[in-house]
Amino acid sequence: MVKVVKFGGSSLASAKQFKKVGDIIRADKSRRFVVPSAPGKRSSDDTKVTDLLYQMYDAAGDKAKYSKIFTQIRERFEEIIEGLGLDLNLDDDFRRIEEDFVHQIGRDYAASRGEYLNGKVMAAYLGFPFVDAAEIIVFHDDNTLDMAATNAAVAEHLEGYDRAVIPGFYGAKKDGTVTTFSRGGSDVTGSVIAGAIHADLYENWTDVSGFLFTDPRVVENPEVVDTITYLELRELAYMGATVMHEDAIFPVRREGIPINIKNTNRPQDHGTMIVSSTCKKPKYTITGIAGKKGFCSINIDKDQMNSEIGFGRRVLQVFEDNNISFEHMPSGIDTMTIIVHQSEFMDHEQQIVAGIHRAVHPDSIVLESGLALIAVVGRGMKDQRGTAARLFAALSHAHVNVKMIDQGSSEFNIIVGVKESDFETAIRAIYNIFVLTQI
Ligand code: ASP
Repeated sequence: MVKVVKFGGSSLASAKQFKKVGDIIRADKSRRFVVPSAPGKRSSDDTKVTDLLYQMYDAAGDKAKYSKIFTQIRERFEEIIEGLGLDLNLDDDFRRIEEDFVHQIGRDYAASRGEYLNGKVMAAYLGFPFVDAAEIIVFHDDNTLDMAATNAAVAEHLEGYDRAVIPGFYGAKKDGTVTTFSRGGSDVTGSVIAGAIHADLYENWTDVSGFLFTDPRVVENPEVVDTITYLELRELAYMGATVMHEDAIFPVRREGIPINIKNTNRPQDHGTMIVSSTCKKPKYTITGIAGKKGFCSINIDKDQMNSEIGFGRRVLQVFEDNNISFEHMPSGIDTMTIIVHQSEFMDHEQQIVAGIHRAVHPDSIVLESGLALIAVVGRGMKDQRGTAARLFAALSHAHVNVKMIDQGSSEFNIIVGVKESDFETAIRAIYNIFVLTQI
């Protein structure tokens, strides 16, 4: 059994956190490939080392500011090294980093040093070999990941290793230029390595006990989801739910490798398993609720619309011509509604309205802004009588007017459109009916 384990910044913010991570790794021999982030925040008003590195790079012209930040960064690492009682000296690395910063060799390079140094500390602490991500994570010239070259490099470099520490977040182009993923990208490194070595499991250790049923800013202490499929996660993530970097799904999904989201501060918790498919019966009919504000609808009416072949295509062509992607398109016999992101639509509003007039000569076009969409997602909804009835009864009892409904025949996702002012009330009502009052 081989597990790739990635630890986020808050799991490695201090020597105390490092010790928890050490215990976790030593508790399971299959935790063999370790991907650390840079030290994160120790408290809510602290600054992540990655942010300090960006600040330091940008302050290159201001010697005093620059030196102050550099000292802060050094102290963060020294505090961890001392706290762990390690015999490790990073002076040479810091000297090199300072030289490279002075020569402004790149903002990505600057940001990557947090993971690089933390990887060295982690390797020394665990007694594992250190493998520089710049040698195995390969980027194209346009800064996107070169998956084929990465897979080959990972296979070649890690072949001789039984275990290793590989820093997250960065890699390099073929010419050696250090390049990073977008923020939070250590998740992607872990996933890419798990996929490339065909690991049995990718464990992603963070500071929550898994994927939450819904946004904790809306529902107090929502339950943790036990098992979620990639498909369900994708639907919820699209609507704003976050648990890990979006690009971290694909590399493991492609290989059918499950992800386990775990909490470094509560390793005894089961966490959330993200799997490609499962026969495991979900605890609740739904797996999650997510939503977003900021949509608007374009309602088009025309007598006899139903008999006009090509009507829908001509309307959608107008959106395409204006480079606007639409989210949903519920329709009636003589009416059609297009739901779009308000922020994207605003700049093109009048061109689109004029375009629709020209394309299909409607009787009327009515625009409505301030809409929120809520996705109610769950593989347990399939072939389950009464799910929609419970959902809409709950909304009605909460005095929420439903403005739009969309459910595909795959039956694992119901999208509801409500007024933005009803958004929070609607989510709480749905959570209550499907989770809190569920037997
Ligand atoms: N340290 C990087 C960041 O703060 C990458 C990561 O933590 O995944 O975004």
